[in-house]
Parts: sequence; C-alpha cells; structure tokens
Amino acid sequence: MDKKIVIVGAGVAGVNAATKLVDNGYPGNLITIIDMGKDPYNRKPEEVMTGFLGAGGWSDGKLTYHTAIGGQLSKYCGEEKAMELMDQVITNFKRFHPKPEEVQCSNPEEEPDFIKPYFGLRLFPVWHVGTDYLSEIAKNWYDYLVSKGVQFHWEAKVTSIDFNKNDIFVKELNQETIKKQGFPDFELSYDELIFAVGKSGIDFAQQLAQDYKLPDEPKSVQIGVRFEAPQEHFQKLIDISYDFKLYRKFDDEGVSLRSFCTNNNAAYVAVEETYGDHSYNGHAKKDEAYRNNMTNFGILMEINGIEDPFTWSRNIVNKLQYTYKPHNPLGNDRTGLYYSPSRKPSTTSEGTEVSSTQISLDTLTHVVEPVMEGYFKYVMDFIQDMKKVFPTLGDDWGIYIPEVKYLSPEVKVDYKNLSLIDYSNVHFVGDALSARGITVSGAQAIYVAENLLK
Ligand SMILES: Cc1cc2nc3c(=O)[nH]c(=O)nc-3n(C[C@H](O)[C@H](O)[C@H](O)COP(=O)(O)OP(=O)(O)OC[C@H]3O[C@@H](n4cnc5c(N)ncnc54)[C@H](O)[C@@H]3O)c2cc1C
Repeated sequence: MDKKIVIVGAGVAGVNAATKLVDNGYPGNLITIIDMGKDPYNRKPEEVMTGFLGAGGWSDGKLTYHTAIGGQLSKYCGEEKAMELMDQVITNFKRFHPKPEEVQCSNPEEEPDFIKPYFGLRLFPVWHVGTDYLSEIAKNWYDYLVSKGVQFHWEAKVTSIDFNKNDIFVKELNQETIKKQGFPDFELSYDELIFAVGKSGIDFAQQLAQDYKLPDEPKSVQIGVRFEAPQEHFQKLIDISYDFKLYRKFDDEGVSLRSFCTNNNAAYVAVEETYGDHSYNGHAKKDEAYRNNMTNFGILMEINGIEDPFTWSRNIVNKLQYTYKPHNPLGNDRTGLYYSPSRKPSTTSEGTEVSSTQISLDTLTHVVEPVMEGYFKYVMDFIQDMKKVFPTLGDDWGIYIPEVKYLSPEVKVDYKNLSLIDYSNVHFVGDALSARGITVSGAQAIYVAENLLK
C-alpha cells in the first residue's frame, strides 16, 4: 500500500474509488483527486456537471439496481459480483445521508401475465436518495475523505496525460489560486491512475483514445422509432411501472428490441438535430397545464454485428430525411417521417406541429423498409404484438422515424481491473468507460479499488 494513486474526476466514480481505498486502510495521503469543479461547500446547485459527486450525484440521485440498466458492469465481473458492487454504492449513499431512513426503494412486482408471451418487462428496484439531500450527503462524504487524508485539487483541469512517463498535466482554473501559488499549471506523477472524467470529460477521453490509438470495443447500432399513442391504451401497464421497459430478443439474428424512455401524462415528441439530420425523442412536462394524456416511448433495436455502427446509422438517418419530403409543413427541406394508420402528427409543447413528413403504408413498405436494410420488420412486429397485449390500441397510434442513439466508443480494457490493454496502471471507470448511471459508475470504480487493494 505505498503506491501513489491519482484519480482524475471527483464524480460518483472517483469518490467511490477513494472511499473503498481508505475504508480498507489505504493511506489517504497517497491518494490525490483532481477535479475541474468545486468542493461541495462551494459548488452551486446549477453547476450540474462538475464538482464533488459529479453529475447525477449532485442533481438527481436515483440509484438503479439492475445489471441491465446503467451501462456495462456484469460483462467485466459477472452478474453476482456486479450486484454486490452496486450494493456497496447504495450503502455509501445511505451511509453519508443525514436521514438514511428516508431513502426509499421502489421495487415493482412481478411481470404481469397480460404482457406474456409477447414481451418481457424489465423490472428493477430504484433507490430514491432524495434530491434535496444530495448536497448534505456530498458534504458528509467529502469531510470523511478529507479526515482520512485524501488530497483534493479543486478547479484544476487535467489537460493531458503521458501514459508512458506516468505524468499528468494540470491547469489551474481559479485565478486566486494561480496568484497565490504563482504559476498556472502543474505536473503530477502517479503509480496508478483512475480516469473518471464522466460525460463532461468525454472529449478529453476521446482525445486520449486518438492520441494513444487505444483499441475500442465493438459497438451495436441503436436505431428505431418514437412511438406515440393516447395514454389510456397503456394505463394498465403504467400503473405497474411508470417508465416501463418492454423488451424482446432474437439471439440468432443479433437483434433485440426495447421500449425506451417512456413519457406519460404531458408527453411530447421532440425533434433532435444531430449532424444536420432530424431524429426523434420524447419528454414529459410536469406542469398540469401541459397535460395531453399521451404516451410516447422509443422502440429501439439494438443490432449487433454491423461493422461501422456509427457510419451505418448516420447513413440510414440521412436517407430517411431525403427519401420522402414532398410536403413539409415547416418548410424545412430535411425532416424525419411520420406514419400512422389513423392519426396526424402531434404538436410540440410549444404548440407547433412536430416536424415530420407523413407517409403512407406503401411508402413505409417500399421506402423505409429497404432503407433500413430489412430491420424495420422487427419494429412493425413489435407494434403488431403490442396491439394484442393492449387490445384497445388498434390503429390509434403513430410512429416518428427515426429515433437513434449514437454510442460513443468504449475503450478496450482488461476485464479484471479495467486497465487499458497497453497501460496496466491506467484504469478507466464510470461514464468515461461504459457506464450510464450512478450505481454502475460507482460500482466500476469500487471494482478497480478492490483490485488495487489486493
Ligand atoms: C442532470 C443529470 C441527472 C442524472 N441523474 C441520474 C440519476 O438520477 N440516476 C443515475 O443513475 N444517473 C443519473 N445521471 C447520470 C450519472 O450522473 C452519471 O452516470 C454519473 O454521474 C457518472 O459518474 P462519473 O463519476 O463517471 O462521472 P461524473 O459524475 O460526471 O463526474 C466526472 C467528474 O470529472 C470531472 N472532470 C471531467 N473532466 C475533467 C478534467 N479534464 N480534469 C479534471 N476534472 C475533470 C468533472 O468535473 C466531474 O466532477 C444523471 C446525469 C445528469 C447530467
């Protein structure tokens, strides 16, 4: 236990790694954490992405507890270990909570019979820490780490890392600190590095991946449609699970489908513009004034085995804009498509029509199907089976085409300690690796810390 450990990022991952280390007797003075944000006493509520406890640990705090939610974990360490690691993260949040008895767990019951045999319903517990308590949790947690001797550098941005010489280069962002110490930049060496920069450091992570030609994991394509219908047809399921996740898998064909990001009550379809093309998403308003009694969710296909998923998806999204645009009400010359057997496109929460070109079944069959290289049939089968499970649905629905998720590359790591293949003392964790949630980010970091303790 005499190695100098540097952690870049005091987010959910970095903080959990340090906690695991000091809890097990690792000398705090050998651990340095650098973050471009502020400590929890100086961090403002609106500083959403940077500072102690990072992104979701400061502003939301819903702890999901399932290995299929929140990014990659069990692929590295197996199911059982993954659950145990996530438990440790949840325990840490409770441990520093001023009123741990107020942490609530919502845990939907068994899969309802009426959706079988057509769909699976992914049910998972969620721990609600309580947004109002996050700043107090952060302060208690920070005080503990400081009391153990952990060294923090706040408002200090890591600008480059030399993986060969084990050196990191840091730029001070706080003018007063610069004045006090008399220099704007400093260098630090490490024996082990935990790289935990989260979403706010994604460009930096990608830059390093490029500079060091880090190999990455094969990714899947994530493409589909945004489905919309009156809420009444789905109410029976919404009562069981508000953000229900229906799924089905075709292992032999490398395709799985899931409903994604369900919005209810005051639910609106939103147009997203990425790389100059339109795709669709959804959001829900809280204010009752916006209630429209609609439900929308993505029906996303995960397609494996496509060589360059990013380029493939971009081409398809692009073709779905140009293929059919005879009468776009907004006058744009590029927009996505809308198909419904009976409905018209809805309006946005601002009251304008959701930008889309309504197409016929014929166009759906003869244009969209071939553009999607035969994969669109999975979406249509999904909808056909929803009609069986939700009998009042009938033709009372519409789809906005396409919805797409462009996944950022995930660097290849050694599964036993999440270290880079060519740099065994550099460990990537959290959103900077493959996580997409608090519990998984923290769990990956604890996994690395456990390995360092061995
Ligand atoms: C508004 C919001 C709400 C969310 N709500 C939830 C939720 O309820 N439940 C859930 O599971 N997930 C939620 N998430 C996702 C979740 O926050 C992330 O998955 C999680 O925080 C990732 O942890 P991390 O430690 O990898 O990164 P982060 O928590 O993002 O921390 C990264 C840290 O690295 C620092 N950093 C970045 N680059 C540098 C650099 N170059 N030099 C120095 N420091 C750097 C940043 O300042 C930041 O503090 C939410 C995300 C957001 C944005």
